[in-house]
Amino acid sequence: MISDQRTRHTLHRLGNLTTAARNDAWSRVKNAEALKQQAIHARDRVLADLPAYLARLETATRAHDVAVLHAGDAQEANRLVIQTMRGLGVTDALRNHHPLLDEIQLDRAAKANAIQLTPLHPGDYLAQLADERPGHPIWPVGHLTVEAISATLQQKWRIPETYNPDHLTSTVRMPLRRALLRTHTAILGVTFAAVEEGVFVLLDNDGHNASLTSLARHVILLLSIEQIAADIDDLDALIQVFALSAWGRPLPAYVTHLQRPAPREIDGPRTIHLILVDNRRTKIIEEGFGQALRCIQCGACHSVCPVYQQIGGRGYANSPYTGPIGAVINPLLLRPDLGEAQAALCAGSGGCQDACPVAIPIPDLIHAQRIRLAQTHPPNDDKRYFSVWRRLISRPRFFRSYIRRSYRK
Ligand code: SF4
Repeated sequence: MISDQRTRHTLHRLGNLTTAARNDAWSRVKNAEALKQQAIHARDRVLADLPAYLARLETATRAHDVAVLHAGDAQEANRLVIQTMRGLGVTDALRNHHPLLDEIQLDRAAKANAIQLTPLHPGDYLAQLADERPGHPIWPVGHLTVEAISATLQQKWRIPETYNPDHLTSTVRMPLRRALLRTHTAILGVTFAAVEEGVFVLLDNDGHNASLTSLARHVILLLSIEQIAADIDDLDALIQVFALSAWGRPLPAYVTHLQRPAPREIDGPRTIHLILVDNRRTKIIEEGFGQALRCIQCGACHSVCPVYQQIGGRGYANSPYTGPIGAVINPLLLRPDLGEAQAALCAGSGGCQDACPVAIPIPDLIHAQRIRLAQTHPPNDDKRYFSVWRRLISRPRFFRSYIRRSYRK
């Protein structure tokens, strides 16, 4: 549990505000249930036949002069990014806000290869300054209090003491604006891709993706292989559902589309490289946990989870995925060693499943994880004691003689 009460209060407040906004926005949608069903269908449709959809996406994308690369795991994804940058002759880049980039630890790989990578999203930038990890898919530093942000900026940049949120925000944005104007290369996690049309979509609430795709001469896209829609109709449904559940608004403030390079236009990238990242996703489907990959990373389940509100993003062992869906995905995708600890991060309230716009049965998946762990791990001491206790309690005569003998010792 987070020991600092102010941080717990901030998380709680963020959860209440975002839940209220989301409920209000969904209550205004005329055919809310039909829209959710369309989104669920859109996700299940591609997950049921992922290799075929990916092959079609690759064909459509290549036809638009986009170079397509495949990464089996995080190391390969990083290697391909670095290799592509070296091929372009660049040593610095800006990146957008996207959980896939945190999943593959791109920042760390860039640093190890002497590449300067700057996150353009102010929340991610602030997280880096404060030596924190993003704690939420939409609000990466939603857990930081104004006092904590002010203290970080005073310490790192020696700014005068201020607790004015507008002041603090513009202070953080200033160097990012300068970096944006110098930008040459952008590394972008893709929110969704539409297979038939070979279109890539980036959603955000502050316009950083639109700025990057307009100003960068070279764009390297990273796409989790499951974040695809069969066609533009399914894509539209997913965009609406994402905006409603992530920000509590009918549409995102910014929807950035990318389809092909624009070598002769004033703005837009000259080259586009696409890296399709698997990183165990195919295995997750094979292991029967494919429903977890319906997730669109809207963060709605975080806002209603009583455990997340007590432990915040750090409680998920510094994993990139947090909240209820993080407890399911992290052991499957990244760190099997976290299985036991993450499966315990559920109080069984069931609020996450109700909040999830694509109806992921999160409590059932956590329960299935627990069963899998019980089957694959040797019984620990607790289980052995419990089994002895159960045998004794069901035989009163044995029980009495056992207790008598134990006391005589
Ligand atoms: S599990 Fe559902 S509610 Fe949670 S982030 Fe994913 S899509 Fe959103």
